[in-house]
Amino acid sequence: MGILEKIFIKEEMNMTEKRSAYGILCGILGIIFNVFLSATKFFAGTISNSIAITADAVNNLSDAGSSIVTLVGFKMASQKADPDHPFGHGRIEYASGFVVAILIILMAIELIQSSIAKIINPEKQTVSAIVICILVTSILVKCYMAFYNRRIGKKINSPALEANAIDSLSDCVATSVVLITSLVGRFYHIYLDGYAGVLVGIFIMYAGITAAKETINPLLGQPPEPEYVDKIIDIVTHFDEENIVGIHDLIVHDYGPGRQIVSLHAEVPEDGNMVELHEIIDDLENKLNEEMGCQVTIHMDPVFTKNEYVLSVKKTVNEIVSEIGTDIGFKFSIHDFRVMKNNNTTKLFFDVVIPYKCVVSDSQIKALITQKINEKLGDDYLVVIHVDMDFTK
Ligand SMILES: [Zn+2]
Ligand SMILES: [Zn+2]
Repeated sequence: MGILEKIFIKEEMNMTEKRSAYGILCGILGIIFNVFLSATKFFAGTISNSIAITADAVNNLSDAGSSIVTLVGFKMASQKADPDHPFGHGRIEYASGFVVAILIILMAIELIQSSIAKIINPEKQTVSAIVICILVTSILVKCYMAFYNRRIGKKINSPALEANAIDSLSDCVATSVVLITSLVGRFYHIYLDGYAGVLVGIFIMYAGITAAKETINPLLGQPPEPEYVDKIIDIVTHFDEENIVGIHDLIVHDYGPGRQIVSLHAEVPEDGNMVELHEIIDDLENKLNEEMGCQVTIHMDPVFTKNEYVLSVKKTVNEIVSEIGTDIGFKFSIHDFRVMKNNNTTKLFFDVVIPYKCVVSDSQIKALITQKINEKLGDDYLVVIHVDMDFTK
């Protein structure tokens, strides 16, 4: 593997090219190994009259099939964006990972069925030295496959490869059980393969369901990694501390690794020059694009940074909101705070961010906050609240 990596993965490749080169390399290796294992085990199964070994061969053959799916997935994911798919093809990798997971589940059902048949109708096997050799080799090869799929899957952050690693590991265990029951059958004439097969089948089923979940989540849209969010917030808040005083409403859309679309609201002083601020915001968008490789759209929100009256009202509202949050058991925060005065009424506008897990309804929260504000600041305050969701947690 080390030598193959040196030949196929070139230093001058960018991350996207490296990912697809690794994916193709692992896919081809997977097909070669699995076809080899499957052929030797079909042979072993036939000469020993063992249904378990033959089933294990079928297992490896379906792995070769799923490797082909992985390979096609990587190939398609590395395709450039086109008019029909302007966000690229990165998510195909998640879809093909899901197909692999479904294949694992189907395989498990198959294995359980044939094992039950063997419990009902046990058969005598003739396990020769060559059969044991083939099984031991198979276990070693599968362990090695699990090892490199996992290592490279982690390296290039590929759910499809990590799903393959889990599958290789469960194959390792499956073949080990087949080996043990073959030995027990040979030396003690007790035929346990059926029972062991059911256990292994359930184990593989569990691995398949886990892998399916892991590939379906990015397809549905999951929150970005906390480190990714922290890095964006860090860049935004340190870019121009005088003119960009805050950030909120950050949304990250993930169209596959290296293809993120980000939108966020930047808080700017309300007395700033619109043209100058827009210039700064454009520079910030470019900086985020260069450092994070993402497409960024930034919306500007004016905030009062100097008006003492607004700042003190904001402070009071902030305290009220976080107090209500603490009472309910969640962390609430506010942003886009604005005050508008006309005649005898003062209008307060602001957004409240509440976590998804919060069970209290939006209207109840709005009513609670309004009531508390009127108690503390007076009845002539009109409160306009917009409830926001947090898309980063
Ligand atoms: Zn905003
Ligand atoms: Zn612009």
